[in-house]
Amino acid sequence: MVPAVARAIRILRYLARHGDRGATLAQIHRALDLNKSTCHNILKTLQRYGFLEFMPPSRRYRLGHALVELGRLSRYVRPHPSVGVRLSPRKMRHRGWGGMITDKFEYLVPRTVAEAVSLLQRHRGEAKLLAGGHSLIPLMKLRLATPRYLVDLNRIDGLADINEAGGFLRVGALTRHADIETSDLILSRYPLLADAARVIADPLVRNMGTIGGSLAHADPAGDWGAAMLAARAQVVVSGARGERILPIDEFLVDMFTTALQPDEIVTEIRVPQPPPRSGGAYVKLERKVGDFAIVAVGVSVVLDGKDRCEQVGLGLCNVGATSLRARRAEEALRGKTPDEEAIAGAARAAAEECDPTSDLRGPAEYKRDIVRVLGARALRLAVQRARGGV
Ligand SMILES: Cc1cc2nc3c(=O)[nH]c(=O)nc-3n(C[C@H](O)[C@H](O)[C@H](O)COP(=O)(O)OP(=O)(O)OC[C@H]3O[C@@H](n4cnc5c(N)ncnc54)[C@H](O)[C@@H]3O)c2cc1C
Repeated sequence: MVPAVARAIRILRYLARHGDRGATLAQIHRALDLNKSTCHNILKTLQRYGFLEFMPPSRRYRLGHALVELGRLSRYVRPHPSVGVRLSPRKMRHRGWGGMITDKFEYLVPRTVAEAVSLLQRHRGEAKLLAGGHSLIPLMKLRLATPRYLVDLNRIDGLADINEAGGFLRVGALTRHADIETSDLILSRYPLLADAARVIADPLVRNMGTIGGSLAHADPAGDWGAAMLAARAQVVVSGARGERILPIDEFLVDMFTTALQPDEIVTEIRVPQPPPRSGGAYVKLERKVGDFAIVAVGVSVVLDGKDRCEQVGLGLCNVGATSLRARRAEEALRGKTPDEEAIAGAARAAAEECDPTSDLRGPAEYKRDIVRVLGARALRLAVQRARGGV
């Protein structure tokens, strides 16, 4: 076994014995006789992937919720020769464990954003916001999330509007994917967003899932992250200390991690209004209709009077720990006429700077090449639209 993995397992075992209280870095590295900085690096990696939680006030680490739940679940899992493990529903029911039923929670229904913020403050660390529920509820059913309080945003007025004001398209956080897909304003002026909304999951999910929930969830496979990076969007958040407006690059921090504070709510997404001779496109490859992307690429371009690229935005989906902005590809095209050679160069740069992993959707090298192919397709389409074509 790789030494770092062996050390990580020792750390996890040690913390499992310490339960909810957890342990400090000093306690862990002394008890396990590990070099302090190595121990710190392993702890940070484990934390990054959700295996550990860091508790800032006490500076202690404890097992992440998913691991604690898996530990509980393992009592109800039995080996099966063909599939490795198989759940035993009868045993689960017999022991009073509901399987696909969420843990108990209290359901709270604020009527204003301020009320929702104060509920988050009151139940700090124990409350979760509910929007469309299409990411949160499955996690709760698997007991990978077990909030004690669920704060439903759906009865707050004014969070689902789509309009243009002050130089921006403003989309309320609670706007459903389906409303974006069918909005006349978006269909006529924001092709990048229209393309993206159309390929998210299936109509059932699109009818419920929201743009704010999707961005707050920060799934690297979520389509809105890449589309919004390409569109240079801003995210408006409200919290106890008032309102903040964050560029999307700052909002998306890491896998399932955003810059949101525990008492903050996403209220609006702002996309700069398109200047003349601008175009956008979102192109996605999926294993079957309705699936998350193998790879998707979002593009926005603005052409100047001489048909050169004045602005370029390129966002990549599912080829990194978070949605990625392909900065080198943008740079490769800026100031150039977007002919076939320039487009191919930018698409190659995007393929080089992405960071895919091999998984059930394909090997990393395949995904990298798909970034190149889709990158070129999306760029061609966006340029064609900027020139007044389809
Ligand atoms: C079968 C299936 C297929 C899917 N396929 C795709 C796909 O192809 N592409 C894609 O992009 N997505 C896909 N999704 C995810 C879907 O788009 C979700 O709707 C979305 O990720 C989450 O939005 P939601 O409104 O349902 O959020 P919820 O599930 O309600 O919440 C998700 C998280 O965000 C937090 N949150 C919600 N709203 C806010 C807010 N306003 N402010 C702060 N935090 C908030 C919640 O507390 C929770 O932690 C799929 C989902 C399913 C079930």
